[in-house]
Amino acid sequence: AKEAGRNTWQYYSQDALLRIQRRLEIEHALLGAIEREEFSLAYQPLLHAAHDQPPAIEALLRWHRPGIGYCSPAEFIPIAEKCGEIVRIGDWVLAEACRQAAAWDRAGLQFDRIAVNVSAVQLRDRGFAERVIDTCHAHGWPPQRLELELTESALIRDTDVLRHCFDVLERHGVPLAVDDFGTGFSNLHYLNRFPVGRLKIDRSFVQGMLHDTGTAEVTQAIVHLGHALGMKVVAEGVETEQEEAMLRRQGCDEIQGYLYSRPLTPRDLAHWLRQGGA
Ligand code: C2E
Ligand code: CA
Ligand code: CA
Ligand code: CA
Repeated sequence: AKEAGRNTWQYYSQDALLRIQRRLEIEHALLGAIEREEFSLAYQPLLHAAHDQPPAIEALLRWHRPGIGYCSPAEFIPIAEKCGEIVRIGDWVLAEACRQAAAWDRAGLQFDRIAVNVSAVQLRDRGFAERVIDTCHAHGWPPQRLELELTESALIRDTDVLRHCFDVLERHGVPLAVDDFGTGFSNLHYLNRFPVGRLKIDRSFVQGMLHDTGTAEVTQAIVHLGHALGMKVVAEGVETEQEEAMLRRQGCDEIQGYLYSRPLTPRDLAHWLRQGGA
């Protein structure tokens, strides 16, 4: 039994070692990645449920790192958050998204807004909100058409820095959305405390709603909650027409997912918009 225990320990420690090694490798590779121009943005549309208004667009970060193979933001963003590099990377994302949005707008493409994912670490950084506004101005993009997608974890703490940040953003009309809604914390006080205008129902609920009535009740409850608070509700990760139909029936305002489009290169997204989102 002792022998087996030791083997198990070795097995786990080997595994942990590999994970630490990969983490360090990624952390190291992230340094200077902006300067080496290894990042790009992919763009995924969010369609209005009534199809009577132009779609919104979400910017999603992509990292082309020669050598370490494909590395998804779900893997490298948490590492960038831990080592603090996310602040610089996040600034790059905001600037690039504003630049691209302004270019599309000048080219006559119709879309409602551009949404950018923002990590809790960025919000805590002093001067973040001012930099957001400066970035908009620098690229001639109206702050009212730049939405920031925040996770619940970014909103639970009520600090002076956060309050100042939301004051500045609200003064300039920057819309805020809560991403992955329902997966974080059960305390919903932050919905009244901060100027949130939109809830994004997490993909896990959408994936479960057709198979499980309990999950379908959760999505319906989120739609009711959002509307009762004067917010819009978006469903993400919609892959089938059955999911879409149920979300429409439930009163969802906007829908996003592979059913309509995967995240696209700027060129393909522009093409998609010109075709009228087909
Ligand atoms: P998210 O913000 O919840 O974005 C949705 C993720 O689901 C994206 O993965 C998207 O490609 C994927 N997705 C969209 N539609 C579908 C669908 O119908 N089915 C399925 N199975 N997946 C779908 P991605 O691009 O790999 O991003 C993963 C996460 O990384 C994002 O989740 C977000 O939390 C984070 N992230 C991405 N870009 C940024 C960024 O610029 N800054 C920060 N802080 N986080 C980012
Ligand atoms: Ca998002
Ligand atoms: Ca999400
Ligand atoms: Ca997510």
